Amino acid sequence: MTTLSTTLAKRLEDPRLFRQYAYVNGKWTHGEGGREEAVTDPATGEALGHIPWLEPEQITAAVDAAEAAFVHWRALRADERCERLLAWYDLIQANREDLAILMTLEQGKPLPDSRGEVQYGASFVRWFAEEGKRTYGETIPSPIPNASLGTIKEPVGIAALITPWNFPLAMITRKAAAALAAGCPVIVKPANETPFSALALAELAERAGIPEGIFNVVLGDPPEVSKILCAEPRIRALSFTGSTRVGRILMEQSAPTVKRLALELGGDAPFIVGPDMDPKEAALAAVAAKFQTAGQDCLAADRILVHESIHDEFVEHFAERMSALTVGNGLESEIDLGPLIHGQAVEKAAGIVDDAISKGATLVAGDQSQAPGPNYFMPVLLTGITRDMRLWQEESFAPIAGITPYADDDEVIELANDTEYGLAAYVYTHDIRRIWKLLRALEFGMVSVNSVKMTGPPVPFGGVKQSGLGREGGNCGIDEYLETKYYCLGALGSVSGS
Ligand code: NAD
Repeated sequence: MTTLSTTLAKRLEDPRLFRQYAYVNGKWTHGEGGREEAVTDPATGEALGHIPWLEPEQITAAVDAAEAAFVHWRALRADERCERLLAWYDLIQANREDLAILMTLEQGKPLPDSRGEVQYGASFVRWFAEEGKRTYGETIPSPIPNASLGTIKEPVGIAALITPWNFPLAMITRKAAAALAAGCPVIVKPANETPFSALALAELAERAGIPEGIFNVVLGDPPEVSKILCAEPRIRALSFTGSTRVGRILMEQSAPTVKRLALELGGDAPFIVGPDMDPKEAALAAVAAKFQTAGQDCLAADRILVHESIHDEFVEHFAERMSALTVGNGLESEIDLGPLIHGQAVEKAAGIVDDAISKGATLVAGDQSQAPGPNYFMPVLLTGITRDMRLWQEESFAPIAGITPYADDDEVIELANDTEYGLAAYVYTHDIRRIWKLLRALEFGMVSVNSVKMTGPPVPFGGVKQSGLGREGGNCGIDEYLETKYYCLGALGSVSGS
């Protein structure tokens, strides 16, 4: 097994958080077939380490372990599971600097953003630890003579959690904490680009006293592993965060076993600026909403729709603010944008810009000759974006801002909704009538008015249309991992035939 890279060895306070194994049934596990994959730092191209690819029978062994452990985990009282989850929360907090460094190394995002994600990810563990104690059933007024009716909530069973590379820690805790609090064991399949955050979480889960078989991390060839998880009848719930393309595949593969599905898919968010807004204030907000995680964010403001009366001024302010963004290795200080995740992402971004320009968009700013390395993409501002362009139709997942003018509210509603996605939308206006009109008309699961920040544990996070199914967080996030069992309790000693 490869040794720690020099950067990692020097930087981590607790090197045991850096694991190059899968984690199954409480054991650090090699791949039995000898297959492995190098994980690289997107900022430097340096190999950080290797991960094993498990063989199909090893994935099945993880399901066997989860099945055996489920019996005991579900039998614990909710407050006992809460204690374990709070211990996990405390350990995540205590190790947040190491977790942030690991994340920046494997994902590329600036260190302050990684620290923010650790904090955000940990907050779901605390939230769901408590929510587990509130999974109440109901008493139902009975229409049946001499019977008591009601419901109880039960854990759905083993949950498979498949997560993306853009938020390597929080996308796991947002799912896993809810599942564990509900009484379900989990099998996590992180993205191969960012496995080390997941494995560090496993190490901390073990230290927190989460029993073997309850929190497993499997690694391997993504289509192969996912296929096995989807086909496995003992896995009763699948929660996936990732692209709509892969979400569709998983949905199809889960059909034969009729799994409970939660799908957090792509975004393509509109950012609407009303005519009453101060163009500078709105431009600063739009830059913040577009360039977080170098644009590799499902909430990124992908289609910026600005009222024609303030369009030109808005573009000027946007370009000015954008030109101040710093691009570089996320471990350095004062960096706003790290690298993209890999070379293909850079190629895709360049293709999207070329496509827009070839169809009539104007390049206002963005010079790729300034990029500090092969995986970097300098922020780009394009105006004159139209619906036939890839930038309109696809998530760019890159720091490419595209601005389109509009004439009135009806037009902007129609433009904003013209997408297969429906995750989040931003609205900037102080006009209360416009706020309500847009809030009601926008076909998105989340609408944020005059605020870039919109997420957190108490919030039901999720999309409509092809942005997915289900919600994470909030008082409904735990429901994804619970079944409602109805009971009808006839009066003792009486036997009713109808
Ligand atoms: P992705 O769909 O390529 O990969 C997600 C996961 O699926 C990874 O674990 C990957 O290994 C696995 N995978 C990839 N190909 C697979 C296949 N053919 N079969 C089975 N599994 C496969 O997504 P990504 O590139 O890692 O992440 C970016 C996407 O995630 C964007 O579309 C973004 O909008 C979305 N996202 C959504 C949310 C949300 O909450 N809605 C949050 C973050 C990211």
